[in-house]
Amino acid sequence: MSHVVIVTGGGRGIGAATSKLLASRGYLVCVNYRSNAQSAEAIVSDIVALGGQAFSFQADVSDENEVIALFDAVEKTLGNVTHLVNNAGILFTQSSFVDIDVERFNQVMCSNVTSCFLCSREFIKRNHATGSIVNVSSAASRSGAPFEYVDYAASKGAMDSLTKGLSLEVAAQGIRVNAVRPGFIYTDMHTDGGEPNRVHRLAPQIPLQRGGRADEVANAIAWLLSDEASYVTGSFIDLAGGK
Ligand code: NAP
Repeated sequence: MSHVVIVTGGGRGIGAATSKLLASRGYLVCVNYRSNAQSAEAIVSDIVALGGQAFSFQADVSDENEVIALFDAVEKTLGNVTHLVNNAGILFTQSSFVDIDVERFNQVMCSNVTSCFLCSREFIKRNHATGSIVNVSSAASRSGAPFEYVDYAASKGAMDSLTKGLSLEVAAQGIRVNAVRPGFIYTDMHTDGGEPNRVHRLAPQIPLQRGGRADEVANAIAWLLSDEASYVTGSFIDLAGGK
């Protein structure tokens, strides 16, 4: 049976590296994106040029109807979804806790947690055999990200709990659910946080003395997703250079 994977937010950063790596390992890949069609298309072109199979699909994965449309499209184009990477995520400008307004808080929760809930639920509902989910959480769930984005950290803490609880519910079905918790990875996300050079600034405080690369996170995601991790569920891999 073909391995068919949806990578949410698969057109940029960690998601893009994951889409490319999984395609190189024979997965048929749906590169999901929310607004940046150009980068998602570029990733699909790279995959196809190397002999892989992929297509891009626009869906805001925090919206229930759009998630259903996403899964319908993948089933029609590639076949039943056997693997899922819940990678889509956002953060906003660094801020103290008291300056976070409720609209921002709800948007972060919706984009980071509701999306994970909706895609995982759709995956479980439609997956009658075995399968595997990897959630992209964050080291922020452990640090709390004070004075930067406690809202974002809290959303990742919720993802950790969801990973644990769901893994226990579906273990007997043969579905594994795990998460990675990256720390300081060179992607555009830090520009959204208002500090493009954040990883570079923090590098001296990281035990390994450098920021991480998206492909280093992708390697861990691909391992957890694969049968090589067949006895691993409800587990977390921290990718934070020792932090
Ligand atoms: P990024 O470069 O900003 O990419 C984020 C991706 O998520 C984009 O492809 C974006 O789509 C997509 N996205 C956001 N909201 C979406 C939604 N509602 N529906 C569909 N797609 C959506 O960020 P990244 O650094 O690669 O982050 C990927 C994941 O790693 C996130 O969950 C993030 O929290 C986590 N993480 C990152 C770091 C780090 O240091 N970079 C550390 C820990 C955890 P568009 O391209 O269409 O905008």
